[in-house]
Amino acid sequence: MQPLSLLARRPLLSAIPAASRITTISRHFSQTSLAMAPISKETDFLVIGGGSGGLGAARAASAKFGTKAMVIEGKRLGGTCVNVGCVPKKVTFNAAAIAETIHQSKSYGFNVQETAPFDWSTFKKKRDAYILRLNGIYERNLANDKVEYVHGWAKILSKNQVEVTLDDGTKTVVNAKKILIAVGGNPTVPPPIPGSELGTNSDGFFDIETLPKKVALVGAGYIAVEFAGMFNALGVETHLFIRHNTFLRHFDPIIQEGVTKEYERLGVKLHKQSAATKVEKDEAGKLTIHYKEGDGEGVVSGVDHLIWAVGRTPATADLGLESAGVQVNEKGYIVADDYQNTNVENIYALGDVTGRVELTPVAIAAGRRLAARLFGPEQFSTLKLDYNGIPSVVFAHPEVGSIGLTEPEAVEKYGRENLKIYKTNFTAMYYAMMEPDQKGPTAYKLICAGPEEKVVGLHILGLGSGEMLQGFGVAVKMGATKADFDSCVAIHPTSAEELVTLK
Ligand code: FAD
Ligand code: NDP
Repeated sequence: MQPLSLLARRPLLSAIPAASRITTISRHFSQTSLAMAPISKETDFLVIGGGSGGLGAARAASAKFGTKAMVIEGKRLGGTCVNVGCVPKKVTFNAAAIAETIHQSKSYGFNVQETAPFDWSTFKKKRDAYILRLNGIYERNLANDKVEYVHGWAKILSKNQVEVTLDDGTKTVVNAKKILIAVGGNPTVPPPIPGSELGTNSDGFFDIETLPKKVALVGAGYIAVEFAGMFNALGVETHLFIRHNTFLRHFDPIIQEGVTKEYERLGVKLHKQSAATKVEKDEAGKLTIHYKEGDGEGVVSGVDHLIWAVGRTPATADLGLESAGVQVNEKGYIVADDYQNTNVENIYALGDVTGRVELTPVAIAAGRRLAARLFGPEQFSTLKLDYNGIPSVVFAHPEVGSIGLTEPEAVEKYGRENLKIYKTNFTAMYYAMMEPDQKGPTAYKLICAGPEEKVVGLHILGLGSGEMLQGFGVAVKMGATKADFDSCVAIHPTSAEELVTLK
């Protein structure tokens, strides 16, 4: 039998120069596996996917409860969030926020001279280096927590067996008592119009090497709105194609209408009720996008990058789910109950691949709770994640945040007559020194239900919403009422104080 910890003998990723990283891993396994093929390994908890959820579960299982755990990852540790999601996105958002501040600083009396456009190439190199450092930290964390890490692609063979294809093509079989599927998702393939393949997706966004002059995005969710806001703030001509009249349509109307209006004011070229119909590339490599808009048609040319951001699709295609009989729904998401059980005993699933709430902290929280339930003491035997009341922020311009029910959802659940809605719109003090055309919006809404006015929905739009929401989220999650909000003395002068003084 192959000794369990191949990894113990393997250098940490961070010690390997980036360029030779993949081949080094591949060589290591190829030497090991060619010498001893066919390899068979064993573990108690096999986790497929080294992203947010998989790492959360494997590390908790091993470090907290002493379980023999193994993670299989086909790409880079950290998954979507670390490599092509939250982290590089937020760093780019910060760059965009600095650009905005530079423009605004004049109003406060600064004489800031912009001598050159934003140096995207240098910024990208630094951002890439930061992500590589994180990959190394994640690998060291696994080693510290005694989780075995295998770099390769997993395919389920049966309810207790997984085949792993290593980088050099050799295969190894892992026997596991329990299997967790945490494979996340990939950007959804764009609609089949001529030339759609000339565009890229959110993964490709992070490969852009130089500051574009003109970009086009298709989509109306988190990613399209965040990317469009960042490009626009960095001075890029930004076209956003949406199918309806507003974006972020799953959010409360105060947010969808507020941000859509603000993007138009900020100069994002918004194509409402539109659909791209054809994409072409000219000799200079620029794209031309043909589209329908309402009853008419239009063309945008000279586009450096077209980014499709039309949702994400679970990464279940080549996973061998059928071999173990794991059930998926009509969209390919794995069906998992509140305890992350699939229909197959001892196979569990969580995170984006289950399509519930596709956020990093949700995947991590579900993973940690599952590990505690499966491997922890009796007191954790019924532990599960509460999927209600999860706060979420869109790093738009301005930031928006939400927890609980939207107004339409609250009306449906409680009836209009049982709700009291508190709203405010105002101009944050930050803008007091600015010209009227520089002033951004702030809008807050509190949705309260029943005679006790329990806060069942909180929606905020404006500067600092991302940081604000976490604290208010605790209050809402604890079941706070309007009276509880009002009993907290305001912090002055802030925007947040408006939420505890709503009339
Ligand atoms: P993932 O993190 O996707 O990890 C799955 C891993 O499994 C991947 O590394 C993949 O390579 C691996 N894998 C897949 N199949 C196999 C296989 N067969 N064998 C081996 N390995 C396999 N969330 C937030 O909370 N805040 C944000 O600001 C935010 N921003 C985002 C921005 C973008 C552009 C995107 C795309 C997403 C963003 N998200 C954000 C969402 C967040 O990234 C995901 O919800 C989160 O990563 C899901 O974690 P997961 O563990 O389910 O999957
Ligand atoms: P979303 O599901 O948020 O949005 C995709 C939207 O694109 C749809 O809602 C739809 O909106 C529109 N769309 C779908 N198909 C088409 C089409 N053919 N043409 C034009 N528009 C189309 O997906 P994203 O890819 O933006 O993000 C995926 C998930 O990742 C998010 O749901 C979120 O959970 C997570 N994420 C979280 C972030 C954060 O926490 N800040 C940031 C980024 C991602 P409509 O029906 O209005 O047309």
